Amino acid sequence: MKDLFFSKSPLRDRILSLFLVLACIPSLLLGWLTLVLLNYSHSHDIQVIELETLRAKGEEVAAFFTDLSGILDIRLEALDAEDISHEGILWQAQLTEALLNEHKEFMEIIFASPEGKEIARSSRSERPGPLLYVSQLPAFHEALKGIVYQGDVYFTNNGPRVVIASPIRAENTIVQVAIAEVDISPLVRSIAAHRIGESGYVVISDKRGAFVDLGQKGLLKPGERMSPIMEQVKSASRYESIISGVPVAAASFPIPSIGWTLVAEWPLSEADAVMSDIRRQVLIVVAVSILAVVLIAPLFTARIVRPIRALELGAKRIEKGDFEKQVSITTGDELEKLGNAFNTMARGLKRLQELRNEFVFVAAHELRAPVTVIKGYVSMVLEGSAGVITKETKEFLGRAQSANQQLLQLVSDLLEIARSEANRIEIQVAPMDARIPINEVVAELAPFAAEKRITVSYDCPQNAVMVQADSVRLKEVVMNFITNAVKYNREQGTVSVSHEVKENTIITRVRDTGFGIPKEEQKKIFEKFYRTVSARKSGVQGTGLGLFITKELIERMGGTIWFVSEKDKGTTFSFSLPSAHGTMKK
Ligand code: ADP
Repeated sequence: MKDLFFSKSPLRDRILSLFLVLACIPSLLLGWLTLVLLNYSHSHDIQVIELETLRAKGEEVAAFFTDLSGILDIRLEALDAEDISHEGILWQAQLTEALLNEHKEFMEIIFASPEGKEIARSSRSERPGPLLYVSQLPAFHEALKGIVYQGDVYFTNNGPRVVIASPIRAENTIVQVAIAEVDISPLVRSIAAHRIGESGYVVISDKRGAFVDLGQKGLLKPGERMSPIMEQVKSASRYESIISGVPVAAASFPIPSIGWTLVAEWPLSEADAVMSDIRRQVLIVVAVSILAVVLIAPLFTARIVRPIRALELGAKRIEKGDFEKQVSITTGDELEKLGNAFNTMARGLKRLQELRNEFVFVAAHELRAPVTVIKGYVSMVLEGSAGVITKETKEFLGRAQSANQQLLQLVSDLLEIARSEANRIEIQVAPMDARIPINEVVAELAPFAAEKRITVSYDCPQNAVMVQADSVRLKEVVMNFITNAVKYNREQGTVSVSHEVKENTIITRVRDTGFGIPKEEQKKIFEKFYRTVSARKSGVQGTGLGLFITKELIERMGGTIWFVSEKDKGTTFSFSLPSAHGTMKK
């Protein structure tokens, strides 16, 4: 399983990438869309809240002025216009006094004649002096035209003020004009004190665009122009406020009846606080879903890749000739069917191999008898048992004998391989002295070595070299090594056999001074039928099966085989066998 995650697998990487792309893109898109929609609806909600507030405050302002205008809209229905004396009538003084007492917003009330002369005046401040002419005032002129006049806001030490003027009618005739100075501090205070959320506020711009408040707010002083703010609020609903110096969400609301505009500004730190929380939650949900995909995707991918990897390993096992282990895939789908088909195929291949081995075994076995018979009779003829033969016949028969010998070797090797592959080689490992087969082989091969004037030496220890091995097979192994060392050696070369004890094994080395095996051919040397180019060219007879069998035998006896070789310098074949705890002294 670990292997599946960490080893190189392009298929796994491809499926994984696909998985991540397919899962992550929708999550990211969904997250992004949610945030965009939430942002939109949130901004809209803020606008709605601000406009609601402004509308309420706007109504409050409009009502304030409507009330005052209503109070000043005096009608003297009971009297004729002629009955009203322009001067010194007591009721006018009483009325102004009463209005001042009843409505604390009025700071001063003047009644003036249509000529512009003050008839009565009541004021909260002590303003002694004679009654004046008000004919210069725009308020007077507007009111005389029958229009209720409301002036611009002006600022006194005691707060903002507004002048309101209204005609006084008797039977639809304007007989006088009422002019009042109104203290709008309570109204301004009420608006300035109002909060949207905890930190949102409302500011007033009068009809000239001047800031109306009781004191300084941020950078603005009462009476200062608000045009930059009006520009900002007109062009965007979110900006950095000139008043508070922080980013705000803003809205404006005009009050057409008096020409004022109310502006609401709500610092984003508060207005968007909820949104920030939601945004964080959405991001967490997206991140968690992506993380879950990242964690789960490899498991899914492994589920898909594992059977394919099992099939790949199975194929590699078959390539190495191991048909025993079955591929186990239990996915319950097509992959499981593929695994079953693979196992069926492996069984078929195994059967084929068995049949082939069987065939090779039978063929080699059947060939061996006639080849041996030929060998026997040719030997007899050569020895003269069939009468005297000519020199020429002897030479020809000699060649036939040599070819027959090679055929016999091939048949024996094939038989051995067939036995090995069918697991028919019987190996009986027991403690034995390795010196015995080596000495026998050295003695048997001495004439063969002498032909090429090659010296074969055995550095034979005095004490027994006890190994765990099959004595017959060990002799075959040693025979093959020393035969090769002689066969692939140069004239007057040497072959030396020695031992080394290493931990619990005995290493035996066969060193020669022969052709050597070129680097590029070394990895093929244990393959069936492989012979080096130089061996083939040299004309030395061989089947290319000896080392294959030797390796098989050594490994079956629990040992290992290796070699070191240099072209034209020589080769050292080594093999280790388990030690049988014999001592080795020289
Ligand atoms: P054979 O000797 O019958 O060809 P082997 O399986 O014993 O088959 O050896 C395979 C090949 O390995 C040989 O043909 C030869 O090319 C090479 N070989 C084996 N032993 C030696 C050696 N001692 N020196 C050089 N080449 C060798």
